[in-house]
Amino acid sequence: MSRIHKLDPVVIDQIAAGEVVERPASVVKELVENALDAGATLIEVSLLEGGIRRIEVRDNGCGMAADELPLAVTSHATSKLSAPSDLEAIASLGFRGEALASIASVARMTIVSRPEDASFGMEYQVLYGRPGSLHEASASKGTRFVVEDLFAELPARRKFLKRPATEAAHAQAWVERLALVHEGVGFRLEQDGKRCFEVLPEDDLGQRCAAVFGAGLAKNMVQIQAQADSITCTGHVGPPESARRDARRVHLFLNGRWVRDARLLRAVREGVKEFVPIGHYPTLYLSLQVPPQRVDVNVHPQKTEVRFRDERLVFGTVVRALRQGLAAAPWATRMVGTVGSTVQDRGSFPAPSWQRPQDLSAGLSSPSSREGFFPVPAPHLPMEVAAEDRGKGEFLSVANTFLFRAVAGGVEIIDQHALHERVNLEELRRELRQGQVVTQPLLVPALVDLSREELDLLLQHQDKFRKLGVDIEAFGETTLAIRGIPARLQRLQPEKLVLDLLEIAQSHRQATPDQIQEEMLFSMACRGAVMAGDAVDAEALESLLRRGADLPQDRTCAHGRPVRVFLSLEDLERAFYRR
Ligand code: ADP
Ligand code: MG
Repeated sequence: MSRIHKLDPVVIDQIAAGEVVERPASVVKELVENALDAGATLIEVSLLEGGIRRIEVRDNGCGMAADELPLAVTSHATSKLSAPSDLEAIASLGFRGEALASIASVARMTIVSRPEDASFGMEYQVLYGRPGSLHEASASKGTRFVVEDLFAELPARRKFLKRPATEAAHAQAWVERLALVHEGVGFRLEQDGKRCFEVLPEDDLGQRCAAVFGAGLAKNMVQIQAQADSITCTGHVGPPESARRDARRVHLFLNGRWVRDARLLRAVREGVKEFVPIGHYPTLYLSLQVPPQRVDVNVHPQKTEVRFRDERLVFGTVVRALRQGLAAAPWATRMVGTVGSTVQDRGSFPAPSWQRPQDLSAGLSSPSSREGFFPVPAPHLPMEVAAEDRGKGEFLSVANTFLFRAVAGGVEIIDQHALHERVNLEELRRELRQGQVVTQPLLVPALVDLSREELDLLLQHQDKFRKLGVDIEAFGETTLAIRGIPARLQRLQPEKLVLDLLEIAQSHRQATPDQIQEEMLFSMACRGAVMAGDAVDAEALESLLRRGADLPQDRTCAHGRPVRVFLSLEDLERAFYRR
């Protein structure tokens, strides 16, 4: 072993670069963020071979003076922080002063910059950490960075780069993220000479969503918003069918910074729980504004992890924004015209109040200037039943699972279990709001053998169960007696219910009483529902459809799977090649 010595500054930067510069996309991110911090309103990015060969970022921001250029690429040099107290409330995207030094230590970097008041620009070069010359160059106001041959002198790092197409996709993802959240700034991205992404400075959030998610999806996204204290949460969320198993379509921003925070993602899942299938993530643009002093972004060199001072408040606001927005979305509406016609023609039930798509859009409109940008309804929203359809109330039950029914403009297919589960859930909630779930005493109590520990745990929740309409008590040392179950859940098997509740109690020891109660409601709603494949007589199905028509939301079951699917005539025509 050799003697201890101080590391060479270039090596120090290269080590630091390991944390900041992982791949071309990280360079793009850092350079674009710098341009944003410099007040640019137009940022152009051009890449060759996914950025492995060359990355160019041009901006029309404030520029740098000649004497600032060599300093900018020195580590721990920044114009964004001066006093230690500045760290308490960071308002810029950068602040660590190490991105340029890191990039310059692992590539060939050229900077051309001209501040507004300078009559000419200056060019400065750094080659793998070795400073080059500084000389005059013609330039328009702003800054241009060229970064070439990333990691060419560091084979160990270069071999971790993927194919150019993969690197290109990562880089594009960063440009899109930053373009989404920075309204007022135009972005252009070129890959190997081809324009592949563009938003104009004047493009609003809707147009930015269209550029990132595609126009078709963007127009079906709905706005979300919630506020608590000085925290605001705004955004757009896509319909359930745009959900994915991975979180790639989830874009979370904190004060204009794209973040990836596991706990924040959990809040998102909580907020969309009933609208998106379990294990899926929605298409989401969500922007949080939190006073800078209430959040710490200085947790990780890439600054995508954050710590909130009032975590509960922030997460609660996110959950609320999503729940409220989704509940008002066209896909969460009552079953427009599904059963009412049958019912009305037989004269036995009051006609449901029709809700037209236009009415729905009224409920959705936002107070902002973006009003009307996202037209509703979603394409698969059943239309109002027209007069000539009123007599066609019959449905066809297929495989004792799906109910088919002609409605105006197409065919509606309902999943009997999903609908029943949703009906149960909403009705149980209504009873709870009125006091407690109505209990039906069992003629003969059901007995369940348990361990002493399991019995104890269940008895701890005895009061909660009673509120939920489940009456239990101890029957000896290791036996539980179930004396009553919720009256409206006729199909429930008491023993199964109790074992479910036991499992919830066991797996939610850290959860709040409200969360446990919600989980139990879900489980009861599911257990008390007809299953797929259960033969159910027509009258019972009709009654179920009728109950469904009164729900505040019936688009998805408690687990987020769809209750009903609508096939438009257009869909059918396409399937038969008539279009
Ligand atoms: P940080 O962004 O954390 O301050 P960087 O290493 O990314 O650190 O940049 C160092 C400094 O260089 C910045 O603080 C800023 O003053 C200057 N700078 C970088 N990019 C630009 C740009 N595009 N326009 C104007 N100034 C820039
Ligand atoms: Mg920076």
